[in-house]
Amino acid sequence: MKKKPFKPFNKKPGKFGDSKFKKRTGKKPLFFRKKACKFCIEKIESVDYKDTPRLQKFITERGKVTPSRLSGLCATHQRVLIKAINRARSIALLPYSARY
Ligand SMILES: [Zn+2]
Repeated sequence: MKKKPFKPFNKKPGKFGDSKFKKRTGKKPLFFRKKACKFCIEKIESVDYKDTPRLQKFITERGKVTPSRLSGLCATHQRVLIKAINRARSIALLPYSARY
């Protein structure tokens, strides 16, 4: 009996095999425009911990810090921001957690 050449199922064109992208329909888009870092645009290197109105924008209503994927900040500025927020929290300018 002759052996059949191995054919990977799923490799039909137009089905799942060759297109990774079709599977993802309904989920988040694979490609999206990266948000520009607000502090980079304004060329702010250090965030002042007394600048609560600015810090408040990066805090959720429950008092948590927004992750960089939501805030759109770059890694260095996210770190600077968290330092400033923690300082502001320690002198009670910002809440550690909101009251329920
Ligand atoms: Zn930045």
